[in-house]
Amino acid sequence: MNFANKINSEVFKTVAGVANTSNTKAFVIGGFVRDLILNRKSKDVDFVVLGSGIAFAQKVAKELGPSVFARYFKNFGTAMVRLGDWELEFVGARKESYRVDSRKPIVENGSLSDDQKRRDFTINAMSISLQKKDFGELYDPFNGLQDIEDLLIRTPLDPDITFSDDPLRMMRAIRFATQLGFDIEANTFDAISRNKNRISIVSIERVVDELNKIIMAPRPSEGFLLLDKTGLLKVIFPKMDGLKGVEKIGKLAHKDNFYHTLEVLDNLAMKSDNLWLRWAAILHDIAKPLTKKFEPGHGWTFHGHEFIGAKMVPGIFKSLKMPTGDKLRYVQKLVELHLRPIVLSQEIVTDSALRRLLFDAGDKIDDLMLLCEADITSKNEYKVKKFLNNFKIVRQKLKEVEAKDKIRNWQPPVSGEVIMKTFGISPSKKVGIIKIAIREAILDGLIKNNYNEAYDFMLKQGEKLKLKPAMMVSEQEAIELNKKHDE
Ligand code: ATP
Ligand code: MG
Repeated sequence: MNFANKINSEVFKTVAGVANTSNTKAFVIGGFVRDLILNRKSKDVDFVVLGSGIAFAQKVAKELGPSVFARYFKNFGTAMVRLGDWELEFVGARKESYRVDSRKPIVENGSLSDDQKRRDFTINAMSISLQKKDFGELYDPFNGLQDIEDLLIRTPLDPDITFSDDPLRMMRAIRFATQLGFDIEANTFDAISRNKNRISIVSIERVVDELNKIIMAPRPSEGFLLLDKTGLLKVIFPKMDGLKGVEKIGKLAHKDNFYHTLEVLDNLAMKSDNLWLRWAAILHDIAKPLTKKFEPGHGWTFHGHEFIGAKMVPGIFKSLKMPTGDKLRYVQKLVELHLRPIVLSQEIVTDSALRRLLFDAGDKIDDLMLLCEADITSKNEYKVKKFLNNFKIVRQKLKEVEAKDKIRNWQPPVSGEVIMKTFGISPSKKVGIIKIAIREAILDGLIKNNYNEAYDFMLKQGEKLKLKPAMMVSEQEAIELNKKHDE
């Protein structure tokens, strides 16, 4: 099989030219070759050369001219050359051997064939020659081409050795299966089940990198089902594994929260590429096992699972070494609020309930609505339609209330500074009491969200607290006052 006409861009001609003049054998290898055959566009190319990858890359960089950005990693013997959106990686062909306690191999120089043997899967072990005499020729020692045709993930060597050597490959197998819509060949699959506990020698960051790629696939459920079937899920993410199972008392069973969560995740994946929103889907019901109760005459309940779930999020993020800060708070907030729009869609909605939701969700409101719509997983088409329609109404009403009251990203119309100046008092509990009273009055719709109504309301609140106004602060003066305070 020859791919000369598929690697005809300048980049490949340049690399081939360097191989020719320096008398070094060079090949395109790995993911780029796989994706070329699968017609997936990629500009990340791995090259393997027989000799020093760094010395070769230096020549390529020189040949490509001053607009390249090159980096050399002496410790690893690898080099990266960037040109526009091309990212080229160079490495010398190597032979690897492993010890039991580490996924870091002992590395020696090797042949092309040695290098192909150290690759994780047959579909990732193919190479294309850049030599003059057979430019574009495919070297496919493990029948990767056939496996692509059969949609199979298979290790080139004994899978028990491949996975035991570097257990991250188990995550990669499931990741590629999910991304590409492939199956994992039976022996390879069984070896993952047998070697699952060895994943513990891999750093959690690397595991989560692969997990996030699974989550970002078009149908992430496929990856989670494989993680579950191989037993890896229980090892890397026991809390999610804990969602599994159904209990039945009399005729009353609750739904299996693991499969429900996967459906929500797939639904959401069709609507959003936001990794953290997808994480919110994964975690939205995470506290259901903890809050599950059977209430006679009523059935299964999960009271408060949204609040307890939100409280569990930091611990889960920490155990997976995921980011703290904004991302964590975003996921937490969505988990906490995930039932609120549902309640609104079932009851007669008051403006004040809508204002409260806008206030609590702030600029996360649109993502929250996406999550809630994805959360409808009834098998009853009529019900799904009805619920989706109710959400449409909620969205419309949210829009109307927002246009009127501007509650999203709400700022108090009367600040603490203005309260203190008016009553001639210094920071104290009373200032806080008045501020909260103003906010509640606006959310309840007792007063409008503007300066004058809030100011009058403030004066009345002050009276109740036995405060006498020392002066009146106009809206214009308030703007100046707040500006000065912010400086
Ligand atoms: P993608 O870039 O989409 O993640 P890829 O196949 O290019 O997919 P990379 O991680 O970029 O994956 O690795 C490039 C190549 O290096 C792979 O195709 C494979 O041949 C090899 N490789 C990467 N990681 C491993 C590993 N843990 N064990 C064996 N070979 C690996
Ligand atoms: Mg790659």
